[in-house]
Amino acid sequence: MSLKSAIKDEAHRLGFQLVGVTDPHPPPHLSVYRTWLEAGMHGGMGYLATERAVQRRADPREILPECRSILVLGLRYSRPDGADSSGATPLRGRVSSYAWGADYHEVIPDRLKQLVRFIEQRTGTVIPNRWYTDTGPLLERELAQRAGLGWIGKNTCLINPTIGSYTFLAEILLGIELEPDPPFLADHCGTCTRCIEACPTGCILPERTIDARRCISYLTIEHRDAIPRELRPQIGDWVFGCDICQMVCPWNQRFAAPSGDPAFSPQPDQQHPQLIEHLALSQEQFNRLFRGTALKRTRRRGYLRNVVVALGNAGDQTSVPALEDTLLREPEELVRAHAAWALGRIGGQRATRALKGAVSAERDQSVASEIRSALGSSH
Ligand code: SF4
Ligand code: SF4
Repeated sequence: MSLKSAIKDEAHRLGFQLVGVTDPHPPPHLSVYRTWLEAGMHGGMGYLATERAVQRRADPREILPECRSILVLGLRYSRPDGADSSGATPLRGRVSSYAWGADYHEVIPDRLKQLVRFIEQRTGTVIPNRWYTDTGPLLERELAQRAGLGWIGKNTCLINPTIGSYTFLAEILLGIELEPDPPFLADHCGTCTRCIEACPTGCILPERTIDARRCISYLTIEHRDAIPRELRPQIGDWVFGCDICQMVCPWNQRFAAPSGDPAFSPQPDQQHPQLIEHLALSQEQFNRLFRGTALKRTRRRGYLRNVVVALGNAGDQTSVPALEDTLLREPEELVRAHAAWALGRIGGQRATRALKGAVSAERDQSVASEIRSALGSSH
């Protein structure tokens, strides 16, 4: 058996459904990436735009000068089920399905290291290598397309024609030559525009790009500050990420499997968090609940900000006492400010009373301004 076939077999044994090989040549679509950065569409993800980060994306040999081939791998995670596509139970939030189980940053590296060890044992040499999953300075979807794993859909996800797009991608840069696989040249999006039409914020742009500043996934995970007021209603019940542009994709509806790798099996608190209950999470409880999961990335303040926005959008009077309590007692100004907005959005006598009661006691200018604005909009 050739080395490449043996590596692919071992990758499948480690749970990767997709495996392909490409060469380390500079990606041809870097200009699209540069234009996207120049337009500021990466929002607050400044680490993407440094000259060093762009140089490394421009040429994988900037990361590993000895690199002669790149292994690209895909690992499937759970598909949101039917209940998810019609909205979660009232007063429960929704979480992007990649975050329903263990944090992939804690699961996948171990398997990549095992694969490197296998290659070294098989060749009997120490091989220069670097591996990444999502966090590396690589244009990973383009590498995946070049390695034959699928095409980049209009929603910017890598879509494989047999398993869809609910996959984590990972790459191993290797200092050995492996024969590249043929690139995936077909574009099976065709005339379909379902993802573009379904995106609640209209942030899917031409040339397979997304304006991250308006994407719910970015706003609820990477964005650290206040969510622009005009975008809060579109966030609906998403408290971590957004799957809409993948859920509507016909390739996922036909081919994505309901469950993925067991490491990512859904945990109820992560799949449909109880919003009112989570509003009361202390720092310690938050750490304990989300230890080892991707949700910890938002930190407590970001997560609670998202929870109050989801409660505002649910518009349920039963959440008013909990939101009032948050407005009066929550130490994080960011969370108090969004709680004011949520009360204004829910409206009604009790919400208005809570906002009026809080306005004179509030010492922070940005929160006081949110309360005044909420009083203007509450009815
Ligand atoms: Fe739009 Fe949600 Fe997809 Fe972002 S993740 S592009 S907000 S549908
Ligand atoms: Fe392509 Fe349609 Fe899927 Fe969007 S929904 S990624 S246009 S196939």
